[in-house]
This record gives sequence, C-alpha cells and structure tokens, in this order.
Amino acid sequence: MKRADPLRVLAGEIVACRACPRLVAHRESIGLLKRRAYRDEDYWAKPVPGFGDPRARLVLVGLAPGAHGANRTGRMFTGDRSGEFLYAALHRAGLASSAESVSRDDGLTLEGVFITAPVRCVPPDNLPTPSEIAACSRWFDAELALLSEARAFLALGAIAWNALHARLGAKAPRFAHSAESRPRQDSPPIVASYHVSQQNTQTGRLTTSMFDAVLGKAWSLAASDSKRSRKTASAERTR
Ligand code: SF4
Repeated sequence: MKRADPLRVLAGEIVACRACPRLVAHRESIGLLKRRAYRDEDYWAKPVPGFGDPRARLVLVGLAPGAHGANRTGRMFTGDRSGEFLYAALHRAGLASSAESVSRDDGLTLEGVFITAPVRCVPPDNLPTPSEIAACSRWFDAELALLSEARAFLALGAIAWNALHARLGAKAPRFAHSAESRPRQDSPPIVASYHVSQQNTQTGRLTTSMFDAVLGKAWSLAASDSKRSRKTASAERTR
C-alpha cells in the first residue's frame, strides 16, 4: 500500500486548525466581506499550509497569509502583489516554473524551494501577537521537521528571522537585510531579507536587484551546504 505523503497529511491538519479565536474570526470575516475585485470568488479563509518542493534545499519563510492573497487563494504568497514580486524572482532564478502565481490549481511548481510561514492565518494589520506566534509554532516546527533536505533558510522579515532562531532555542541577532546567521553549528544558515510586501517593494526599500542578490546568496549557501553534507556522508561511509 502506498504511504501517505507526510506533508500532505500535515497540511490537512493545519487547514483544520482553529486554535486562535481572534485570527479565526479575522480570516473568516475577510472571506465574507471580500474585496470588490474578488466579490464573485469563494475565499479560502482557512489556515494556509506550506507550498513547494518536499525535497527543498532552500526554505523561504514569510510572515502570514495576505488578506486578499493567500487568505483568498489558499496558497502561500498567491494572488497578491507580494507574491507577484516573489514568484517573479524565483522564476528568474530558475526555481519556479512560472513567474505568476494566481491560484492553487494554476500548475505552478517549485524546484528545490519550499515556502512557509510561522503564522498560518491572516492577522489584523499583519501583526500576530506573541501568543499566536507561539500557538502556530507547532505547525511551523512540524513542517520544517519534514523538510529533511533543507540546507538554508531565507527569512522574509524580522518575524520570520526571530521565529527561525526561536525554534532552535537561539537568541536572534539584530535583523538586517542580507545578514547571515548560523544559530548552531549543526543547523542550516539563515539569511535575512526585507519582506516582499508592497510597503517595501513600492517604496524602494527592497528592489528587484536587492532581492535577486539575497535570494542568490541563500541559494548558494543551500547548494554549498548540500555539497558539504554529501562529502561528510561519503567520508563517514568510507570510515
Ligand atoms: Fe491555528 Fe496557526 Fe491559525 Fe492559530 S494562526 S488558528 S495556531 S493555524
């Protein structure tokens, strides 16, 4: 009998979560009120699981679903301006099959990359409370534990940066764009980037070339760590 895909099983559990009353009410009210441009659509209005290659070497970590993006479409960074910026960059880097991400069933695939977030329900003003981040860490931890080939992380914003350090019990260094950290010797490196939100991309705080550079940096760390772990494994086999 074929074994169930563990990421798919976990996604089903995430989607059913109602642990944070404030966020459950918020995601559902957005789904009912809708934005005028999407009034004929059925909003997802549920928690959003991670998306991408289960054998990813690089894991991108955002903040939480966008109100009319992932909270509408049900897929990370799909259907809003942040996603347009992010998937175009992934496509330029040869890591996404398309530069556009418009719906859960648009056929888009990622190669070597997985996208997730520490909070799975859209928070008011994009600001989850510490207790909501803590409640959702169970899903974040469980998903990352299944990505056994991950060799580097790209944290999109300070909340992602802090969450990635917190799960390893490490104090996060000060967040700065393109900063790099390895909280433990045996853990993958973490690279920081400004979040791909419109607030950053439309003000010039995060430009296309800045993001291409930081994505390239994280990808080369993921690739070089893969080579290093393959060498270590082969050295151990020959001992
Ligand atoms: Fe559940 Fe996370 Fe959503 Fe809270 S934010 S209801 S823990 S999925």
